[in-house]
Amino acid sequence: MVSDEILRRRTFAIISHPDAGKTTLTEKLLLFGGAISTAGAVKNNKINKSATSDFLEIEKQRGISVATSVMGFEYAGHKVNILDTPGHRDFAEDTYRTLSAVDSVILVVDCVKGVEEQTRKLMQVCRMRNTPVIIFINKLDREGRDPFELLDELEQELDIHVRPLSWPIGMGSTFKGVYNIYDKELRLFTVNKTKLAKDVVAVGDISSPIIDNTVGATFAAQLRDNVAFLEEYYEGFDLDLYREGYLAPVFFGSASNNFGVGELLDTFIKIAPSPTPTEASQREVLPEEEAFSGFIFKIHANLDPNHRDRIAFCRICSGKFERNKLYYHTRLDKKIRFSSPTSFMANEKSLLEEAWPGDVVGLYDTGSFKIGDTLTEGEVLQYKGIPSFAPEIFREVVNKDPFKTKQLEKGIRQLTDEGVAQLFVQQPGSRKIIGTVGELQFDVIKFRLLQEYGASCDLYSLNYYKACWITTEDKDLLARFVSLKGSHIAYDKDNNPVFFAETAWVLRSVQESYPTLKFHLTSDFK
Ligand code: GDP
Repeated sequence: MVSDEILRRRTFAIISHPDAGKTTLTEKLLLFGGAISTAGAVKNNKINKSATSDFLEIEKQRGISVATSVMGFEYAGHKVNILDTPGHRDFAEDTYRTLSAVDSVILVVDCVKGVEEQTRKLMQVCRMRNTPVIIFINKLDREGRDPFELLDELEQELDIHVRPLSWPIGMGSTFKGVYNIYDKELRLFTVNKTKLAKDVVAVGDISSPIIDNTVGATFAAQLRDNVAFLEEYYEGFDLDLYREGYLAPVFFGSASNNFGVGELLDTFIKIAPSPTPTEASQREVLPEEEAFSGFIFKIHANLDPNHRDRIAFCRICSGKFERNKLYYHTRLDKKIRFSSPTSFMANEKSLLEEAWPGDVVGLYDTGSFKIGDTLTEGEVLQYKGIPSFAPEIFREVVNKDPFKTKQLEKGIRQLTDEGVAQLFVQQPGSRKIIGTVGELQFDVIKFRLLQEYGASCDLYSLNYYKACWITTEDKDLLARFVSLKGSHIAYDKDNNPVFFAETAWVLRSVQESYPTLKFHLTSDFK
């Protein structure tokens, strides 16, 4: 029973640089999957760039993103779970953590723009985890770059091998459709924003005259040249290499025109991995184990003062989750029962009775969860691999109201537990430094400290380039380093020493002077 449920699950995220078409593709996948019936149901949770100073507006938009945080639906006997990721770069940490809860990703690339900044950063995270990637090159209805040039760029910049499974015929105004290399079919393109009809011509073979008759002799000849070239110079598609995160199959299409989406979904169902084993500090946990276990990868607080609840998102790693059963919170060493766990189906939330590995359950929380917390049926387990990234923007927290010191401390602790920012404490004097990857978080922090904890503070800019965790075998050397660099050392929430480098040059020169100290840009070395 468990293994049937596991095998039919596909849990993944769609990632892209903003504007490449992530929201559009998500919506079209839901349409093709039959999970929604009209376009426009998936709200773009992209944060309006002009709204960067108005963070309440941003939170309103983020509220939308809770509803669409996880979109589950049934398709062709499979349970598909799409985990949404925020598009705004200031919330990149949220996205990185979500990537720890998926088994694979679909990367959307704009054929005009190619690889962009966020594409690179997101793929770095996927490469760290060897997450299997399918690439969807989007907007073929526009005059984009040469497909071979795009493939070269993907390979060089993203450090992954690619293998096209379809090939575009023409592009922009001359876009005719794609040739599916494996099914040996032409899929003809028509501008089509509403219908889901598939216009497919089976051609049998690339040399078939049907191709000439359908797209014209010139395009047919070009297609044959291109396919011959890629058969010769690109390695064949290999399922294992894809699942190891080494080889990414590539599709071409146009999400807004529903083109290439059905093909993508059908292939995705076939090749994407079902839930895979999860690494805990103690051991590797297999999804088919009988005992339930899962971890919290995201916590969402409601900013509406009338509904001050938080939802903790739990990814199930093994066994079956059941409502009202007592589960063991391993960090707090305490049993907790969940009477109203939530499941997410397409655009709706509903009460859930049971859930399986690969599923995401929403748990109402009154403050007992931190990012990375593990739930089990009693075994002491701690899931690994939800890294914190070295923050890049720093502020010192200065209390404005000495009577509210306790509230301020509590607020900061809870917000950092939720993963809004990272807290570092510097001695002497317990100076508090908050580090984030985006400016917006500071607005969020100030607002929430005041609203939820009645604490007001000033946040003073500190000019650092990065804060790096330090590890070494040589404890004496570390102690000497820490005392020498005193004013540049602080401690994270687990009391690990962190070095604050003012510039990239300072960091490099310290690394050169202390070759036996390791400076980490992510916290998952622990
Ligand atoms: P996201 O920021 O990655 O979620 O991107 P969106 O899905 O919001 O798309 C950004 C813009 O690109 C929107 O205006 C879409 O209508 C447009 N878009 C999406 N897919 C296509 C496509 O296939 N062709 C064209 N021409 N535009 C598209």
